[in-house]
Amino acid sequence: MLFAHDTEVALVAAAALVNTTGSDGEKLPDLAALDDFVRTYEWTGGREHTAAELRAVQDLRPRLRRVWEADEDEVVQIVNALLRESNALPQLVKHDQWDYHLHATPSDAPLATRLAVEAAMALVDVVRGGELSRLRVCEYPDCGNVVVDLSKNRSKRFCDAGCGNRAAVTAYRARKAAARA
Ligand SMILES: [Zn+2]
Ligand SMILES: [Zn+2]
Repeated sequence: MLFAHDTEVALVAAAALVNTTGSDGEKLPDLAALDDFVRTYEWTGGREHTAAELRAVQDLRPRLRRVWEADEDEVVQIVNALLRESNALPQLVKHDQWDYHLHATPSDAPLATRLAVEAAMALVDVVRGGELSRLRVCEYPDCGNVVVDLSKNRSKRFCDAGCGNRAAVTAYRARKAAARA
């Protein structure tokens, strides 16, 4: 494993959150979509189920997206700001089926705060490990989704929204066309 389990889970969730807005439209348009997202990524803790909660989560996305595009110094600024604004206080906790892992916000903190701090704590590991190059943008033309490459050989080039398959089909067609020519 490249990072601690909770770090990897948090990075994947942060990328998924960033990718809810992008070239194929808004995927968190309402509270029902937010409920789905929270369930899919197994977020525990309190919820408000308000328009303000949804907006706070939506507003977090462009800030997190910058992490995939910025240089190391700017990433550090973003991460430190997120931790400072949220009064992050790391504590080891155990709950549900999860063994000890870090929480840096109380479970009744607003959802957007918890999402921000969880992402920031994971990014602390990425920066300290000198692994920011694992945060990339999908190479499929016009996709623009962000990618977390947790593979051993740093081989992940496409996002999880089907771009890997699309690229394979394109390459296959190109090979066939070349063989015919
Ligand atoms: Zn937890
Ligand atoms: Zn893609």
